[in-house]
Amino acid sequence: MSFASDAKNEMCKVMPQNSCCQKAECYGLLLFGRSFSKSSVCMVTENAAAARCLALLAAQSIGVIADVRSVLSHRKENKNTFTITIEGDNQRQMIQEQFGHTFDELNLRIRRSNLPNECCVSAFLRGAFLCCGSVTDPNKDYHLEFVAPYHNLAKDLVTLLEVCGLDLQPGLTNRKGSFVVYIKGSERVTDLLAFLGAQAAAMELMQIKMLKEVRNSVNRKTNFETANLDKTASAAAKQLLAIQRIVETTGLGELPEELQELAELRRQNPDMSLRELGQILEPPLSRSGVNHRLQRIVDFAEQLPDRS
Ligand SMILES: [Zn+2]
Repeated sequence: MSFASDAKNEMCKVMPQNSCCQKAECYGLLLFGRSFSKSSVCMVTENAAAARCLALLAAQSIGVIADVRSVLSHRKENKNTFTITIEGDNQRQMIQEQFGHTFDELNLRIRRSNLPNECCVSAFLRGAFLCCGSVTDPNKDYHLEFVAPYHNLAKDLVTLLEVCGLDLQPGLTNRKGSFVVYIKGSERVTDLLAFLGAQAAAMELMQIKMLKEVRNSVNRKTNFETANLDKTASAAAKQLLAIQRIVETTGLGELPEELQELAELRRQNPDMSLRELGQILEPPLSRSGVNHRLQRIVDFAEQLPDRS
């Protein structure tokens, strides 16, 4: 099961209480379908629950019997595709009258009179999402979209999403002749999923986001520590090389007295931290004191003449 189909299944469990909302959801399911005209009213989905939901709402809210057919699609990994059609001129006429469309419109638009109350907006948007929406697996991206068949319909949907009381900042783009209305960002997608009735999906998205953040911060920390370790190791290597060079040319005895003991100590303890080296010196020396002296040893080695 994908995240999107889980979300849709969850939304389908919500049967709106108010009859105004039942009708609004049915309207969303039909309006964004494959066709919404005098000769054909048809919705196609891969989601069985969405197909059932439409059939139920059509019967309950407007008294229309939908015809549901399923076809096993071999092209799409043996997924079932459901085609829900409203057969019969008289039934389609009932839809036309119920939703106030003339069915000879050049531009299919959302008729706001079909969302009479504030409560109906979420039901209508849920219907639209069940019909033409999808949401990306939050492990990959925070993206939710509706694919609308007409530009003006997509624009109306953007407007509705803008005024539904959430800060969604919907975008609109064109893809293969369809109009894609999209929402981006973990919080916006979470808010909209919850608004559409998919609380569990919204919660899952938040949890995935949290896990990702924890994982990223652990990775950042690990990278930081590795980088520091590298720095320590390469500094120690530099010091060891310098000491080796002094040993081979002048001998450690040529170093100023206060550096001799430290050079010997470093030679014997290549892995020791500066703090640890400082603690075994007599008298003990601070970390920065050790660092300073080691730097002087490196400087001393660098100004030695080349061996060749
Ligand atoms: Zn309502």
